[in-house]
Amino acid sequence: MNPIVAIVGRPNVGKSTLFNRIAGERIAIVEDTPGVTRDRIYAQAEWVSKHFTIIDTGGIEPDSEELIPKKMRQQAELAMDMAQVILFVVDGKAGLTPSDRDVALMLLKTKKPVLLVVNKVDNKNLPDDFYDFYELGFGEPIPVSSSIGLGTGDLLDEVVKNF
Ligand code: GDP
Ligand code: MG
Repeated sequence: MNPIVAIVGRPNVGKSTLFNRIAGERIAIVEDTPGVTRDRIYAQAEWVSKHFTIIDTGGIEPDSEELIPKKMRQQAELAMDMAQVILFVVDGKAGLTPSDRDVALMLLKTKKPVLLVVNKVDNKNLPDDFYDFYELGFGEPIPVSSSIGLGTGDLLDEVVKNF
């Protein structure tokens, strides 16, 4: 079976956009409504001749007791259980938020490799608060723009090192 890469993070950071970029197809639903992706979505992907399965998840809102966010969180946990590598996506435009810290606390429990992906860095200049993301405890943040495709090749180079 191909290795599995799971994309997780709070709603609206651009997980589905990154998924589409990696999958090379427009499969996941991208909308302005936070948390619109309610089911796990799988795609087969390939980078430098290495094949893997990429899984998009709905956003994690760790503290919510509402039914749908709870279901989305369970699906994200399932995807993380199955994964060899986890992509923890945050929003470089919004900066570090309390919800990112909550997701980080969930992820710190896993022994799997976690790559911290700072999405929405749409040009070569890193935002001033970029290095705040170091506080999350997952090492060097990787800047990408999923909508433009900047930095995603470097990200995939890091991903396939784990297979
Ligand atoms: P998800 O909820 O984490 O799956 O986020 P989506 O992929 O649905 O994206 C949420 C919003 O962020 C949409 O309006 C996207 O167009 C926007 N977005 C996603 N990636 C980028 C990016 O790299 N740059 C910018 N500027 N916007 C992005
Ligand atoms: Mg989504």
